[in-house]
Order: sequence, then structure tokens, then C-alpha cells
Amino acid sequence: MHVSVVLFTSDLRLHDHPPLRAALEAADAVVPLFVRDRAVEAAGFVTPNRSAFLADCLADLDASLRERGGRLVVRSGDLVEQVCRAVAEADADEVHMAAAHSAFATRREERLRRALESDGRRLFVHDAVTVAVPPGEVTPSSSDHFAVFTPYYRQWARFRLRTAVTAPRRVPVPDQVTSEPLPARADVTGVSPALPPGGESEGRRRMAAYWRHGLDTYEDLRDDLAADATSRLSAHLHFGTLSPVQLVHGARRRGGAGAEALVRQLAWRDFHRQVLAARPQSAHADYRTKRDRWRTERTARDDIEAWREGRTGYPVIDAAMRQLRHEGWMHNRARLLTASFLAKTLYVDWRIGAAHFLHWLVDGDIANNQLNWQWTAGTGTDTRPNRVLNPVIQAKIYDRDGTYVRRWVPELKGVDAPAVHEPWRLPGESRAALDYPDPIVDLSEGRERFSRARDRQE
Ligand code: FAD
Repeated sequence: MHVSVVLFTSDLRLHDHPPLRAALEAADAVVPLFVRDRAVEAAGFVTPNRSAFLADCLADLDASLRERGGRLVVRSGDLVEQVCRAVAEADADEVHMAAAHSAFATRREERLRRALESDGRRLFVHDAVTVAVPPGEVTPSSSDHFAVFTPYYRQWARFRLRTAVTAPRRVPVPDQVTSEPLPARADVTGVSPALPPGGESEGRRRMAAYWRHGLDTYEDLRDDLAADATSRLSAHLHFGTLSPVQLVHGARRRGGAGAEALVRQLAWRDFHRQVLAARPQSAHADYRTKRDRWRTERTARDDIEAWREGRTGYPVIDAAMRQLRHEGWMHNRARLLTASFLAKTLYVDWRIGAAHFLHWLVDGDIANNQLNWQWTAGTGTDTRPNRVLNPVIQAKIYDRDGTYVRRWVPELKGVDAPAVHEPWRLPGESRAALDYPDPIVDLSEGRERFSRARDRQE
């Protein structure tokens, strides 16, 4: 009997899964394997919110495999060792997995390839599983990647996507390969109270609901903070419980301005991945440095703490930071505002903000998080790196009647717009009655003051 191993990583689904399809075609049975990689844990990437979501994903994947006559095999430890062990136990000929794009994942993949080949087995790495258009497929004539989104998008939009593959009807799994118990969401502590459920079934339900009730209004409402009208599919894309290829096909089939706008956002996801694949160090180092001399934990401790806890005195910033902790998710416009406030107004190192986001975000993702932070901090791919988003002006546009702020900042629940965005302007008595802090920084000085102060110190 021929056996293949399918290694699941950031692709925790059965629908549109080319590695699983190829493994089934090559063998009589497959070992659907997920390894809880010790190195990922050691890197601090396994946070409560993502662990809880992951537990849901694995439980759902196991249930779907059981409906097809199989089951999921979960192991913990060094990924390469665990895959080789499963391969030996099943006497498998080949391993199939999705291509990944970070430096860590690429090194791990290489190590796995060498280990398998030294034992006479083969590794097949499949593209376009975790992205719609793989890094390197769309490039400018003069470089290995695009550094600006608009020309990238023009080519990306013309790229011929592969057709989606259906979920298999049967997945036979050999008996001799045993699994550890699956992790349970209930065992994870420190999870955000309103963290959404994970898993492919939930992702597909959410996607179908969005096609019916969200897509048509996406373009008009996507920046409206209170409307909460975006797809909220980001965690499903991060864990691969939904296929980006299928999402793009699905949106294009439906058509219209909303679909076009959503597809453009999905292209941003691929854009950041092709930057990260070409410049792996951009996960930590400035992509285009301006030689900033950032404030740090040591020089800006109180401001950083106020930002993290949502008590900066700027209501829209505080609302967003509290949403992040409560849901493990934050609206895109709010991510832009809070990141700009930290990096541009408070002039704090973008890596400090990115680390806080990575801790809480259920969709926390090296490519999207680090490169969006760099975009906002002016060290990344923004063609206007000096733009500063003013949280009061932006709040008056994107939370016009103050509903978003009042939802997350109960201290301001009795205050109408526009005063709710500038409570310090309320007359003395009304202001004094609010248990809400004064702004920690004057917007008109912000970055200038901090950078001059640092200059003077040196
Ligand atoms: P929708 O508006 O419904 O968009 C659909 C999908 O398109 C998203 O799920 C996402 O996969 C992709 N997308 C949308 N906007 C972007 C974008 N700007 N860049 C890349 N992909 C995008 N997204 C993450 O998935 N993980 C992160 O860790 C992350 N960190 C961010 C940090 C900052 C400072 C900023 C400004 C943005 C960050 N984003 C991140 C991008 C974006 O904010 C989220 O993808 C989006 O808010 C998720 O909500 P949604 O699924 O409802 O998005």
C-alpha cells in the first residue's frame, strides 16, 4: 500500500487544498498531520487568542476528516523530527505541504526537504495554497518584487489563478499512525472575551453569509468604524481555513463594486507576502529606513502603556485599543489610526506596536502585521511616508456620530458627536464629570517635540 503524508500548516481546511488532493492521487492512504512546532512556541508566536482559534480549527479539521473515514494526526515537538517519525511509522513515500513565505518557514521547509531526501523520500511543496498569487509570479522588470502596491495590483489582477479543487469524499488514514490528543480551546487561558470561533466550517459559514449580506455594501461602508461592515475573514485567511484563491474566484463571480474592492484588499495580502518573501528581514528591520531615532520602552514607558491600555485621552484610539483586547481583532481603519498615533505622533518604535498587535490579534500575521506597521510608520511601502493621521479629524469622518467610540469607551457614553471625539473641549463641569483622561500628547507637536528632544539628548 502506498502512503503519503499531508503536512497541514497555515492551510487548515479540506476544500481547495491542492496538497491533500495531490497526496490522495499519489497514494492509497494519507496521514493528515499537524505538528505543534516547538520553535514557533519558542519564538513567542503562540499566543492565547491564536491558540484558542487554532484549537477550534484542529477540532473542525479532525471532525471533517472523520466524516470522510479518516482523522487528524497531531504531534508536538520539532517539526522536521515529527514529520520524519510519521513518515517512518506509515512507511510513506512522499510528503505534501503548502509553500510558506517567511524566513523561518523557508528554512524549516529546506531542513525538512534535506531530512526526507536523505532517507529516500520526497517533499512536494504546493504554491497558491495560502496566497492567491504566489510571490515571484508577478514581478517588475527591474526587481525581484514590487515595492509599490498600485503597479503590483495591475499585474496581479491579470494573473490567471488556478481553478479551485473540491474537497475529497474519502480520506483513508492508516491505522498504525497514532495521534496525541487534540488541544482544547477550554484549556487556553488569557483569551479575549469576545474571540470568534475558528475552524473551516465556521469560515465557510461566515464567507457564505458575507456573500449574501456584506459584499454589496463593502465598498461604501468598509471604512465606517461603527458599521463593522468588513468581512472579518482575516483569521480564517491566516489559519487557512478559507482559501484565498476560492475567495477571489467567489468575489469575482458575484461582481460589482463591493467585490472589486474586496479583491483589491486580498491583493494587499499577497503584496505584503511578496515583499516579505523577497526581503525576509523586513519582518524586523526597516524596509526603507529613514534613520529614525525612535522612542523606546525605556524613554516612553508611560505613553506606551497608555496606548496599550486604551487611555491616551484620544477617544477613537482608546476605543480601538480596547476593541483589540476584547475581541482579538480591530477594524482596519482603527489599526491605521492607532499605529499612526504610536509611530508618528508618539514617535515610538513601530516594532513595539507591532509586537503588541501580534500578541492580541487572532489574525496576527508576520507579513500583514509587520509590513502594515512599516507602511504606517513610514519605513515601508507607503509612497507618502510622512503622512500623519490625525485621530480627531479621522474620527469625525469615520465615526461621524460617535457610535464606535461610545461602544468601547463607556466613560463617554453620555457624550454626543462631535464632542465625543474631543472631550477636553467640553465646558468645565461636564468635562470634570467624566472619568476620562486628558490627552497624553498635543497633536500639533507630537513627533516634532519627541524627535527634537531626542536630538538634544544626544
Ligand atoms: P476585509 O476588509 O474584509 O478584507 C478582506 C481580507 O483582505 C482581510 O481578511 C485580509 O486578509 C486582507 N486585507 C485587508 N486589508 C489588508 C491590508 N491592509 N493588508 C493586507 N491584507 C489586507 N491583517 C492581518 O490579516 N493580520 C495582521 O496581523 C494585520 N495587522 C495589521 C496591522 C496594521 C497596523 C494595519 C494597518 C493593518 C493590519 N492588517 C492585518 C490588515 C487589515 O487591517 C486586516 O487584514 C483587516 O482589518 C481584517 O479585517 P477583515 O477580514 O474584516 O478585512
